[in-house]
Amino acid sequence: MSQIHNFCAGPCLLPEVVYQQAAQALIDFDGSGMSILSISHRSSAFLAVLDEVSHLALDLLGLDKGDYDVLFLQGGASMEFLRIPYNMLSTKAGYINTGVWASKAIEQAHQFGQVKITASSENNEFKSIPKGIVETSSLDYLHFTSNNTIYGTQFDYVPQANCPIVCDMSSDIYSRVFDYNKIDVIYAGAQKNIGPAGLSVVFIRKGVLNNKVRFIPNMLNYQEHISKGSLYHTANVFAIYTTLLNLRWLKSLGGVEAIEKVNIKKAATLYEAIDSLDFVRGIAESDSRSKMNVTFDFVHSSIDKLFDEMCVEAGIKNIRGHRTLGGYRASLYNALPLNSVTALVEVLREVKHKI
Ligand code: PLP
Repeated sequence: MSQIHNFCAGPCLLPEVVYQQAAQALIDFDGSGMSILSISHRSSAFLAVLDEVSHLALDLLGLDKGDYDVLFLQGGASMEFLRIPYNMLSTKAGYINTGVWASKAIEQAHQFGQVKITASSENNEFKSIPKGIVETSSLDYLHFTSNNTIYGTQFDYVPQANCPIVCDMSSDIYSRVFDYNKIDVIYAGAQKNIGPAGLSVVFIRKGVLNNKVRFIPNMLNYQEHISKGSLYHTANVFAIYTTLLNLRWLKSLGGVEAIEKVNIKKAATLYEAIDSLDFVRGIAESDSRSKMNVTFDFVHSSIDKLFDEMCVEAGIKNIRGHRTLGGYRASLYNALPLNSVTALVEVLREVKHKI
């Protein structure tokens, strides 16, 4: 079978070895003949998985177990849009608005208190990371989205604030070296660089939660999940095990520092092509460009059909932009190999000879 180049924005691909190990675990998890789908979330085998994945998840980000709790929860990042204000917003929270996902988080926060939009790139159609001073005094927390999956923009720094900082890192966690330690609550839907969809991973600095904020139903209460070690209810055993396999793979490569080098190379290869071909336009502003999601379109939309056909021919999949933005988007998550990017660049260069 010829190689498929899957540029999906999520759920995306995981490394081949992870698929193989996860597939094997479906049949026989530990040599006893039990499937991973059939072991109890309270079994010693799964407790060992949870322990290892918790250590790895923290370790790969350079976070200390003494400083942060890590949770493996269900509901994806969208559930955290709700859990964050439920647990942390008593009066007023600050949000940086960088597009659709940030706006969804803002919408949820509005149900719990005042929301101050401390910075926004809305008037630039979210094609950039907002600049300027972020006013953060008397806020319960400041929320930002480190990578904006739809527009292909990315923060290259953690905004300064004199309140706790909360970050949605769904689409760039584990992809790069970052000041993870400066962030008090990091959360991510798993389906890009972590594992299967539906799972969310949340890192919470110890002491940052205000338990008196309001009555919080147990399923939404971070403190409850912390006190039960992510086992308040039946955990998503398969997704957590697959996450462990994926993080082991990342560690075997050399961790975040090593994968960042590959990710820089992939993004540079594609942006160089975009910038050198006069019929292609990058959508995000140059100084805000993401290394995970590269957005572009063609100067003449008549090129779309030709490009789409050539992508099918080359085994390039899921390259169309998000429905709200149009154009094209190549997502370059950790498991996407460099040769998929070069295959895409070859197609772009070939288009030049056909128009
Ligand atoms: N935040 C960001 C940055 C995303 O890219 C996405 C999904 O692509 C989400 C949140 C929503 O994640 P979920 O589908 O896990 O709720």
